[in-house]
Amino acid sequence: MPDSTPSAAQTTALNELALTSLRGVGPALEQKLNRIGLYSVQDLLFHLPLRYQDRTRIQPMGSLRVGEQAVVEGLIELTEISFGRRRMLLCYISDGTGALLLRFFHFSNAQKEALARGARLRCFGEVRAGKKHLEMTHPEYKRIGADEVVDVEETLTPLYPTTEGVHQLKMRDLTQQALQRLVQNPAALDECLPQAIRTQHQLLPLAEAIKVLHHPTADVSISALQQGQHPAQQRLIFEELLAHYLSLRQLRIKMQAHKAPALQSQPARWQAFQQALPFALTTAQQRVIDEILRDLSQAIPMMRLVQGDVGSGKTIVAAAAALAAIDAGYQAALMVPTEILSEQHLHNFQVWLQPLGVEVVWLSGKLKTLARRQALEKIASGQAQLIIGTHALFQEQVSFANLGLIIIDEQHRFGVHQRLSLREKGASEGRVVHQLIMTATPIPRTLAMTAYADLDVSVIDELPPGRIPVNTVVIPQSRRDEVMQRVINVCRQGSQVYWVCTLIEESESLQCQAASDTATLLQQALPDLQVGLVHGRLKPEQKEAVMSRFKTGEVDLLVATTVIEVGVDVPNANLMIIENAERLGLSQLHQLRGRVGRGGDESNCVLIYQGKLSQMARSRLAAMRDSNDGFVIAQRDLELRGPGEVLGTRQTGVVQMRIADILRDQALMPSVQLTAEQLLHEYPHTVPVLVHRWLGQNIQYGKV
Ligand code: ADP
Ligand code: MG
Repeated sequence: MPDSTPSAAQTTALNELALTSLRGVGPALEQKLNRIGLYSVQDLLFHLPLRYQDRTRIQPMGSLRVGEQAVVEGLIELTEISFGRRRMLLCYISDGTGALLLRFFHFSNAQKEALARGARLRCFGEVRAGKKHLEMTHPEYKRIGADEVVDVEETLTPLYPTTEGVHQLKMRDLTQQALQRLVQNPAALDECLPQAIRTQHQLLPLAEAIKVLHHPTADVSISALQQGQHPAQQRLIFEELLAHYLSLRQLRIKMQAHKAPALQSQPARWQAFQQALPFALTTAQQRVIDEILRDLSQAIPMMRLVQGDVGSGKTIVAAAAALAAIDAGYQAALMVPTEILSEQHLHNFQVWLQPLGVEVVWLSGKLKTLARRQALEKIASGQAQLIIGTHALFQEQVSFANLGLIIIDEQHRFGVHQRLSLREKGASEGRVVHQLIMTATPIPRTLAMTAYADLDVSVIDELPPGRIPVNTVVIPQSRRDEVMQRVINVCRQGSQVYWVCTLIEESESLQCQAASDTATLLQQALPDLQVGLVHGRLKPEQKEAVMSRFKTGEVDLLVATTVIEVGVDVPNANLMIIENAERLGLSQLHQLRGRVGRGGDESNCVLIYQGKLSQMARSRLAAMRDSNDGFVIAQRDLELRGPGEVLGTRQTGVVQMRIADILRDQALMPSVQLTAEQLLHEYPHTVPVLVHRWLGQNIQYGKV
């Protein structure tokens, strides 16, 4: 009936078509599908197979290789029950080219009867090596009558990510139906990339790519698919990277539509501040500060990331920004990931800013009730001009009089979700402020493009002058005595030492215990030295007391857990011992080592390892020995561990991707970025479509 009006289901866009419009989907199944992020028929199309199986041909048994999944067909030669350590059914089949042993640990009598000698079987399973024969354990199988002709599959079989209660076969059926809808009505799926862009970047049309990936024909190479190299995948990878990039760009545009106070710094005060410093700023610090001051003077919110290796002097840059905000009559807040770091910053900023009459207030989660109330009052009245604290700063009860700038130090410890949710919180309360984000984790440029597309980036690419690279050695536990002797020598010369204890257990209390045992042992072994101890279980007063005794030089040897990893600064300490160094990741080792080599004296780092090193641990320790450059180390880390780990939520918070792999596909980023800008300018209506398609419900960072 060519003239009949199309049914509603045929005209509705696929992203508005409910799952329940599909055959066999009721409310119960719909709910299960929702659990894995599937809400519309279109979502099914973008729910891509994890892997594929080749059931398109029957393989001769003689050509099977261990590890592959294959369809075979043959005659049963013998079926028997074996009563070894475990009772099992063994079934030998052959096809003239070879033989195969099928093992079943769970089987019924009926099954055993059906697998009688002489019967013809078609099986699908993974080929394993056995003692005499190749084997399959619990293959899928089907008995075939003597003259019966059973077809093989025409396309590779997709395996979908699924959820409890939704079978692979169900997923396949639903996807099949979704594809039918697409075929019936191609216009129901938006092709967001115009022909010109597709040609430029050699991308397949969307519908075609989707069809191929759900139903790759038998001639498609499984290994190309496995490596993400197939053009159909490339099209979707490109789109996914684009969607993520655009979502961050959109956040940025949304933020920049808000107004923020234009903060004019007062050059005279800034001069006074600089003159009081015992050193001159590096060119890199000066440049980055200029970039920040320029941003702050605009009436749109600054969103700037400062990257600088450990020890490059980010704190001063933060101080410059805070001072500008305060001079313009606003409050500045500095958020850091640990209490120890917040205490240290409190101290530094007091030294720097109090002489200029700036009131610095510390807000710690651990303040006593009265002190906390006083701090909160000062923050609310505006008397507090610079507020320093951990994420406790952004709890509900804290209300700022006139916050103009938020600085987040060591942001890689927070993750992107916290960063973005903080920003959203500010915006939703009509408090859009300037943001300065600082991190010591250098990541390669193409990755930074994805992770930080919502930010402007400044790099402090220069260390203060006179820094001598830390000399690093790797030593087995058996030579601990030599290390102790070295500690004594260093302390006798008036320098100080960090001794870092690590444990593989995540348990904080075990770590603390290990550190305090070590401190006791070291104190016994080195009676003429002052040994101090810090770990996460100490009360803030205790921690602060030990740290300040270490700073003043009263304590010679500071035993610590990895709590000192971030930001602690004691220039007179120039030897660091790290125990069980093989258990730490590269970036953590680099951060730890960054605590020494700050005073211009030659400094050393001793990495002690225990037992036999794995290949990975050996490479990590070698990387530490060979380089002091955070960028080189980050690159090495990426190669060793892959981006999932390095850029995990903890590091930068790159959201989980479905088909793209941020490291494998990083070469696409420059084109992605180009295309994103083009879409934003020339085809803005496609942007929300793309973002929603790929990020869907995840777009609300605030909820994470
Ligand atoms: P980061 O936070 O980047 O790891 P810090 O801000 O803690 O580094 O600075 C490390 C050390 O270098 C501190 O002791 C700081 O006082 C010192 N420092 C910072 N800038 C300079 C400079 N321009 N010249 C000399 N020393 C500096
Ligand atoms: Mg720092």
